[in-house]
Parts: sequence; structure tokens; C-alpha cells
Amino acid sequence: MISVIIPAYNERENVENTAKVIGNILRDNGTEYELLFIDDGSKDNTWEIIEKLAESDPSVRGLKFSRNFGKEGAIFAGLKNCVGDCAVVIDCDLQHPPELIPQMLKMHEQGYEVVEAVKASRGKESLLYKMFAKTFYRIMRTSSNVDLDRASDFKLMDRKVIDALNEMPERITFFRALSSWVGFRSGRIEFEVAPRKAGTSKWSFRKLVKFALNNITSFTNFPMQLVTGMGIVFLVFAVVLGIQSLVRFFSGTAQEGFTTVYLIILLAASMIMIGLGVIGYYISKIYEEIKFRPRYIISVDTKNRKDKDRNNDRNV
Ligand code: UDP
Ligand code: MG
Repeated sequence: MISVIIPAYNERENVENTAKVIGNILRDNGTEYELLFIDDGSKDNTWEIIEKLAESDPSVRGLKFSRNFGKEGAIFAGLKNCVGDCAVVIDCDLQHPPELIPQMLKMHEQGYEVVEAVKASRGKESLLYKMFAKTFYRIMRTSSNVDLDRASDFKLMDRKVIDALNEMPERITFFRALSSWVGFRSGRIEFEVAPRKAGTSKWSFRKLVKFALNNITSFTNFPMQLVTGMGIVFLVFAVVLGIQSLVRFFSGTAQEGFTTVYLIILLAASMIMIGLGVIGYYISKIYEEIKFRPRYIISVDTKNRKDKDRNNDRNV
């Protein structure tokens, strides 16, 4: 049996159609399946639609978050709660073509434990977004050896991989990188990013910057090393200048102006501040992790509700 994990945030235009499309594909393929919708605290009536679907279709299950916890939380809630022998994570807007799932299943049967769908191209994106994404992926690649440029969250994972991911204790996660960090035998297939079926992208620029910073800092110490590197370069600079001014001082040709002095002060101060900022950022991460807060909070689960209803029936 395969579990399809579908994070949904304000996707009322998409949920019903997505469930139908994916259900049809898997039924045609003769695969047993469950559709696990995670409502990431939607503000529209996404949850009501999921609930209705779950009532009429036993293969649909919905989890409702108590508020918006972000797509990462939704994916991990799905991994924790799915019951399939393998699971596939897919967007609710059908930008990840579900027609590929049978092909991914076939690779799974051939022994691949992770089947990654990689983007053949990055689809339509604004120039700013493209630049931003490029820089982010370059930092990630050079510093942590995980090539993510064309990676997506569209992935099939074997039960073994799901269990390994569920055992990860950290709370600030980056699914795309973690799922390759855990290893296992992985295969790839390519797909073209389809345009969004309906609704608008749920990412704002602020959310993206936060996402990138989060992921860089939870995967690498590169920014800290950068600061150390700058510090060393600056030290060399300072030693050379120091020797020069000492020589001038003793030879009686010391400069009158303060140019060098304030340049050094400015540079040193900015260096220190950058350094403190980076360190502070990592400390705030440690703080976040150490609080041991849950990644998400589920307020309603359609499956438990069904069990409860059944028990109530028995009580009557
Ligand atoms: N999503 C989510 N929580 C969020 C933002 C997005 O669960 O806070 C879901 C969204 O419903 C969709 C998927 O993540 O199923 C991808 O989101 P979107 O299509 O907005 O991202 P894009 O395709 O533009 O990268
Ligand atoms: Mg999308």
C-alpha cells in the first residue's frame, strides 16, 4: 500500500480535484492507497472539503493543524502518520505530475528506496526568485555537498526511509536535504513543473528568505566559517598596516590624517558585528531546538474521529 502525503494550505480550489486525479491514477494502476491530506491551518474552507472527502471516501484521511506550521511540518506530520509500505509526498496544486507515481512505484519495486523526482527545468519563475534560488542552492551545494538545484519535495520513500526520518530528533528540518542525508539506495526521474492548477503560490518573499536562512544554518556552518575567514584576512591586513605605521612612527614620517585609523575602526566594527550576528543566529537555532517544542500540533484527525464515532455507536 502507498500513502500519498499532500500538504494543503488554502487550497480549496484544488483539494477535491487533486484527490480525484491521484485516486484515479492509483486505482488504474491497481495499487492500494491512502490519501493523507494535511491541512496546514488553512484560513479558507480547505478543511471542510477534506472532511467531506474523508467521509465519503475511506481511502482519504485528513489531519488538521491547529495553526499554520509550514509545509515542512505538514510533510513530517504526514510521514509520522502514514501507514503505507511506502509514501510519496506531492503538492496539492498538481505542479508535481501525479502521472509519475506509477513509474516511481515501479522503481520502488526494482529496489530503489528513495525515488526522487527532479525538475527538468525550474518552470516559470520571476527573475528575482531565480537569482535568489540560485544563490541559495550554490551556498548549499558548496558547503554541504547536497545538490538541490533541481530537487523538489516530490519523492517516494520506502518504509525504512520513513522510519529513519521519523527518528530524526531535530525540529528545524529541511525535508529535501534530510531525505538525501539519510542515504539509502536512491533513483531519479525527471519531470516538467506544471503550472499551478488553481489559486496562488503560498510563499511570500519574506517566507522564502526565512526558509533559505533556516535551511542554510541548519545544514552548514558555512556562514560562521565565512566570518572566521574574513577575520583572518583582516588580521593580515591589520598586521601589515601596523608594521607600516610603526616604521613611519619611528622614522618620524607618521601621517597626520586619521584616514587609516577610522577605516580600520569601521572595518573592524563591521566585521565584529557581522560575526556577532551570525553567532547570534546560530545561538537562536540552538535555543529553538533546545525548547523541544513539537514541530506541529494536530487539532483534528478524521481517522480518530471515525474510530470515536464507531465507539460511540457501540456505547449506544
Ligand atoms: N503549503 C503548506 N504550508 C505553507 C505553504 C504551502 O502546506 O505554509 C503547501 C501548499 O498547499 C502546496 C505546497 O505546500 O501544496 C506547495 O506550495 P506552493 O504551491 O504555494 O509553492 P510553490 O509551488 O510555489 O513552490
Ligand atoms: Mg506550487
